[in-house]
Amino acid sequence: MLKVIKNLLIDCQKYRNDTNIYLQPFFIPHNNDFLENDKLLKDVLGIPADIPGIGVIYLNENKENFHKIVINKSFKNLPQWVQDALLAHEKGHIYYGIKNFDLYSKEYYEDELNCDLYSIEQGYDMYNALLYYMESHPILMSPNRIINLAKATNNSVPLYIKLLNKVIRE
Ligand SMILES: [Zn+2]
Repeated sequence: MLKVIKNLLIDCQKYRNDTNIYLQPFFIPHNNDFLENDKLLKDVLGIPADIPGIGVIYLNENKENFHKIVINKSFKNLPQWVQDALLAHEKGHIYYGIKNFDLYSKEYYEDELNCDLYSIEQGYDMYNALLYYMESHPILMSPNRIINLAKATNNSVPLYIKLLNKVIRE
């Protein structure tokens, strides 16, 4: 079971670097904050449409390059408070500047933690949102991120996350 989770994690997350990509302007903005586009999330970040996905993607439109937060349809099935917290996390990436760290590197986790804390500074319950999000789909589970955020915010880590952390080498 844990091996399955680990493989799922690797499959999903190996695509989740901040890949730079140029795309034709085939999308329609959902609002000023983010776009909704299942295909983009799948093609660029490797997140299938049936798993709630959000990420920052580098786009090219009308000869202008910019970073945009992109979500898929499933993302909108998450409770609103979870969506809001995760959206604020991605805004943190734009605020701090998009970096291309190796997945699971020390710098990667520092960047993720900074953006989780950014979300909290904006008034969102990012710790519980992260737990909810990752518990909703095992493929999304990153014990390291939860443990790092718990330490930074004096939250207690659920026992099963501690156990997962011992088994999954991120
Ligand atoms: Zn992030």
